Amino acid sequence: MASMSQTLALILPVTGVSHCPENSEWVCCLHCGAHLGLSQPSTQEPERMIGTCRKCGRWYLLDWHPHASEGCMILLPDHASLLKAFAECPPAGESPAESPLPSDNPPDGAEGR
Ligand SMILES: [Zn+2]
Repeated sequence: MASMSQTLALILPVTGVSHCPENSEWVCCLHCGAHLGLSQPSTQEPERMIGTCRKCGRWYLLDWHPHASEGCMILLPDHASLLKAFAECPPAGESPAESPLPSDNPPDGAEGR
């Protein structure tokens, strides 16, 4: 299954965790400043969280220990930009930069050299 996956090159804004001024245990949206709803999908990795902004709808991936000062947050692409990036992604097994297809093949190669 893994061999069927494609590599998607995305530019994602990343920054240190943006604490809310009113409470340093809250994380605030970089866009609108509202505090994020945090969900922690795995208890095995408590520092990995998804932050969602109820005000503007942006999603963030957070790598952060609450109560720790260091940590980072990555702005995840929204629905439209993720679909657009996926649509522009080259199919698996093709890497246009590294293996360009020959543009014209000589008929039999005998006359070339
Ligand atoms: Zn927001």
